[in-house]
Amino acid sequence: MIEGIILKGIGGFYYVDTAEGLIECKARGRFRKTVGKPIVGDRVTLEIQPEDGTGYLQTIAPRKNSLIRPAVANLDLVVAVASAAPPVTDPFLIDKVTAIAVHKNMDALVVINKTDANPGDELYETYRRSGIEVLRVSAHTGEGIDALRERIRGRVSAFAGNSGVGKSSVLNRLDSSFGAEVGAISDKIGRGKHTTRHVELHPIEGGGYIADTPGFSSFETEQMDLVLAEDLQYAFPEFEPYIGQCKFTGCAHVKEKGCAILAAVENGEIAKTRHESYVKLYESVKDLKEWE
Ligand code: GDP
Repeated sequence: MIEGIILKGIGGFYYVDTAEGLIECKARGRFRKTVGKPIVGDRVTLEIQPEDGTGYLQTIAPRKNSLIRPAVANLDLVVAVASAAPPVTDPFLIDKVTAIAVHKNMDALVVINKTDANPGDELYETYRRSGIEVLRVSAHTGEGIDALRERIRGRVSAFAGNSGVGKSSVLNRLDSSFGAEVGAISDKIGRGKHTTRHVELHPIEGGGYIADTPGFSSFETEQMDLVLAEDLQYAFPEFEPYIGQCKFTGCAHVKEKGCAILAAVENGEIAKTRHESYVKLYESVKDLKEWE
């Protein structure tokens, strides 16, 4: 029995990274009753067919987490790439991505790129105080890239970022083999509106994988799959000390009187943009619940 991780799945074939190299596998429908279809990121065991060297998936390990779109399992880390230089990132996008990550039991890391053009002091301060890790980098000068490389080594990471933020540039700086692959993938699948994007894991130098994700749009609140609105507060780590301190039990922290989180926003302990993002997400999650 050989162990591995699914790097991509195309037309019923799964490409599994193993100690013996990349092995093309089939699944035989045996998982339909348990985990469903195998997805990228699944940790699997397989058996090799002696006739042609292809494999059959035998087992899929229980998933530590998964995203729906793109379908990817077992992410260790989600990196939200942002920039204070044009095109300036809307903090809401960062907060949406990090909230989903925290909720799904993935580590979240905010990376502020283009520090050569704008150091992004305000953004940096917001996340430094949020309990979510933040790094400053410049794909142009190379500042901070080694620190980022350290953070992704040996882990499965997904990078999200608004278009033009420098995500491709950062990835190319991180791993010299990445550039060629990124180009190859865009050519293969095209950028057309109706083209389905397949997520794929790219092995990185020194161990670990990066999931190629299309952008912030893949991190929609649908990913929070019917999170109760009351759970959302825990996706904002800096809210934690205040939870339970509000005047009313079951406080939504939106505009209630005697809300400890609103007081913390008022006196500057919690960044205003973080709370605004929370309210926006709360409204969308609440609506989902009402439509159930
Ligand atoms: P993507 O759409 O997020 O993949 O962004 P790209 O990597 O294609 O970069 C978008 C633009 O931002 C390009 O013109 C890059 O040269 C520029 N860019 C990327 N990284 C940096 C950086 O660190 N500093 C500056 N000043 N520009 C950058």
